[in-house]
Order: sequence, then structure tokens, then C-alpha cells
Amino acid sequence: MALAYIGLGSNLADPQAQISSALDKLAQLEHCQISKVSSLYFSRPMGPQDQPDYMNAVVAIETNLSAIALLDQLQNIEQNAGRVRKDNRWGARVLDLDILLFAQQMISTERLTIPHYGLKRREFVLLPLAEIAPYLVLPDGDSIQALANQIDKNGLKIHSKLS
Ligand code: ATP
Ligand code: MG
Ligand code: MG
Repeated sequence: MALAYIGLGSNLADPQAQISSALDKLAQLEHCQISKVSSLYFSRPMGPQDQPDYMNAVVAIETNLSAIALLDQLQNIEQNAGRVRKDNRWGARVLDLDILLFAQQMISTERLTIPHYGLKRREFVLLPLAEIAPYLVLPDGDSIQALANQIDKNGLKIHSKLS
């Protein structure tokens, strides 16, 4: 079994309901078991500012799937939620599911970069991750807690507990 961390984000079509429904879908995935769920957070958009604020969370799962098979499942959940990929990068979206970490693996292929390339500089990823895994150390030796302590919160705030 591998321990993986997934970042969830949404800023369209009732973001709280989107995150909550995505959690249900993750819980139903074969060969995956959710082990921890962060609080639900409000965050400011990255990139284009003319879009609604986001809601984010991070979950830990135990899985027998490979990282690429997990990505297939996550993209399937995104599609079913109505995610439309547009040319504008970081534009508004119904649901984004990113693999942040997959065990201590380092992957660099066309479809997958793990650890996720934005992990260290995104407050809406680092702080929920530090909430559920404060003692986590990245493959390069950096501590999640230390990174979370240093990052600018950029208005990030907890909205509610998720489970
Ligand atoms: P960002 O990657 O900056 O968070 P995004 O999540 O909006 O932006 P997407 O449109 O969801 O980007 O995904 C673009 C591509 O990123 C996907 O098709 C996928 O193949 C690739 N990708 C690479 N690494 C990862 C990862 N760790 N988790 C999810 N997708 C990844
Ligand atoms: Mg993303
Ligand atoms: Mg994504």
C-alpha cells in the first residue's frame, strides 16, 4: 500500500458541495481508502483574479493503485463533475484533484510530476497538508511543517471541518 496525498479545489457550482461529493467519490474508489481529511479552507485564486474565491482541502489515502492509475481515476472524477479544460491556465473550475505526493516517489513524466510542482509555494496546499500530516518529510528532505510555517497565508482561512 502507498500513502498518497491529494489536493482538492473548486470555485464553481457550489464549491463546498463539489468538495464534499469528490470526497464521497474518492471513498468509493476501488483499491483506495481515505485515511485523513483536512478542514475545508477558503483561498484566493491563483493567476487570473476575475474569478470566485476557492475552497480547498487535502486528503490522505492508502492505495494499491499506481500513481498513474490513481491519476486516471481522479481525472475521471473531475470529468464526471463537469470539469471543462480550457486554454486559460488556472481559470475557474468545478473540481481540481491533484496528486501532491505518492509515497516517497519522485515521478517526472509527460502526464505526472510528483511531488506536485506547486506544493511548496501554494498556501492552500501546504497548510491543509500540514494540518493532517505535520511530521511529513518530502522526498527532498524538506519538512511540511517548516514549509507551512514560512509561507504567506494570502488570506487562507478555515471554513469548516469536513468529516
Ligand atoms: P496546476 O497543475 O498548476 O495545479 P491544474 O491543476 O489546473 O494546474 P490540470 O488542468 O488539472 O492543471 O492538469 C493538467 C495536467 O497536469 C493533467 O492533464 C495531468 O496530466 C498533469 N499533471 C502532472 N502532474 C500532476 C499531478 N501531480 N497531479 C495531477 N495532475 C498532474
Ligand atoms: Mg491544480
Ligand atoms: Mg489539476
